[in-house]
Parts: sequence; structure tokens; C-alpha cells
Amino acid sequence: MTDAFTAPGRFWRGNLHTHSTNSDGVLDPSEVCRRYRDEGYDFMALTDHFIGFYKYPMTDTRAFRTRDFTTIIGAELHTGKQSNGELWHILAVGLPDDFAPPEAPHFSPVEGSESAADLALRARNAGAFVAIAHPQWSGLTLADARTVEAAHAVETYNHGCWAGCDRADGFAINDLLLSEGRRINLVATDDAHFSEPDHFGGWVMVKAEENDPEALVAALKAGLHYSTQGPEIRRVELTEKTIEVECSAAVSVIVQGHGQAAKAVHGLSMTRASLPLERFRKSPWLRVTVVDRAGKRAWSNPVWK
Ligand SMILES: [Zn+2]
Ligand SMILES: [Zn+2]
Repeated sequence: MTDAFTAPGRFWRGNLHTHSTNSDGVLDPSEVCRRYRDEGYDFMALTDHFIGFYKYPMTDTRAFRTRDFTTIIGAELHTGKQSNGELWHILAVGLPDDFAPPEAPHFSPVEGSESAADLALRARNAGAFVAIAHPQWSGLTLADARTVEAAHAVETYNHGCWAGCDRADGFAINDLLLSEGRRINLVATDDAHFSEPDHFGGWVMVKAEENDPEALVAALKAGLHYSTQGPEIRRVELTEKTIEVECSAAVSVIVQGHGQAAKAVHGLSMTRASLPLERFRKSPWLRVTVVDRAGKRAWSNPVWK
């Protein structure tokens, strides 16, 4: 089976969720791109809020591409109403410039506007990689998340939501969706507005042959990536009785599965770990978390048995 670790190419580091002065970010698009480029990122997506108040921006970052740095056109889409009465946030990376806006004049829901499920499907059909943004920050329920069938991923770590309200989590909903049999991947992002320490904290490593927007979006859709705050994951492989992990120096390697299934090994500076699969007999899926000495984490996409 092809996964991020066996696919051809190399890993490219990218941030998929960012804002500029074209919506509610502090820095203009060129400065946002410069900061990510100078920080060592290979690519980023500037995903301004696709809201009428901001004139439905599809921020054009093509001018800020260089030989070693590329950008993907995208937006954070809004429409409908979650079950808590609030507006949906959907991340879409790889959108066309002329993507038709929903009815989203402000950050408050409009009765009768397009559903989040329909908008996500429209984005997916237009070529985008689609993620359910910051579920914990949104107060999203599992029933809400379940409706967005077009999503490729859940944003399981959002660094801005970590910095601004200590609600970074998307793993709870992600794992419940997986246990329903939903083939969904996960992403870590910054959601940087540069209004607080909300940048350079969570990103994806995407395996592709070229650092090219189309190749990167195709790889993301195919799940050829992992998510991280710093540690590297180099291999995840299932054998008959074990799961084998190779990574940068780690103090913990943890495997999670359905329900209460989990297993961890701990050490001082592990670069490989072999964990027995016994505990996961009833779990059709597994995923891996690697924790380094500083407490930074890396997360694999789910592996299906
Ligand atoms: Zn948002
Ligand atoms: Zn955002």
C-alpha cells in the first residue's frame, strides 16, 4: 500500500491555514509569505475568510512564489449554521480564482444559506483539498462533522486556537469519525493571523515529487502527508503482529485506535519503536503520535488494517 512514507518524492513543509489583511489578519499577503518563506517553509496557503464584508477574497499569492517556495490558492469558507447556532468554518486549499461565493456577508449565519456540506462538496468538486476547521474552537458536534462528507481531513491541531483559547483539538471528533468507518485524514495548521503567537506551530509534511501547487494538492487529497509541531515521522508500517515506527529522536511513541485502544512506548531518545498490535484486534484503524523531549508532537494519518 502506498502511504506518505513509501510514496516517491520528498517531504515538503507547508502551512495550510493563514490570514492576511485581505480579511482579519495583521500582515499584508506579501509579508505573510515572506515570513513563512524565511522561516524555512516550502509552501503555504493564504486562506482568508471568504466573507462578503471582506469582498469574498481569494487572495492571489502567485507573485510571492520563488524558486524554493510556492503558494496554493485557497480560502476559509463560511456558510450555514452549526447545531450551536454559529457559522461554519471550512478550510479549502487549491480553489480556482472564480469560486462562486455562498451567502456569507458577515461572521453570522444567514437563514437559508447553502449548507456546509454543499459548500464543502462544491469546493471539493472545484479541485480543493477540504478540511473541517478547528472543531473544538467551533464547538462542533460529531453530528455536525458527520454531515460534511466531502471533507478530506479534520484540522486536528490548530495553533491559533491553541494560542488564543486553548482549544486546539480536533482529534476527539476525528477519532469518532474514523470509528464510524469514515476514511478521513488529519492536518495540523497554524491559522495564523499574526495577532498573537499563532504562527510556525503546526504544519503538514507533504510527500510529492515536486514543490508544485498541483502536485501538493494531489498528494494531500491522497493522504500522502503527516502533521507535526516539529518531530519527523519517517516510517509507519504494519506487520502481522506489530506496528513499526521510525522517527526523529522521541521520548514517546503512541498508537491509537478505536475506542479505548491505545499503546505507548517511552524512552530517552528513540528513533524506532515496535508496538504489538494485540490491543488493536477490534480496531480497523490505527494512527501514530510521536512526542519529542520538548513535548512537541507529530501525528500520522490513520492506517487502515
Ligand atoms: Zn476559522
Ligand atoms: Zn482561520
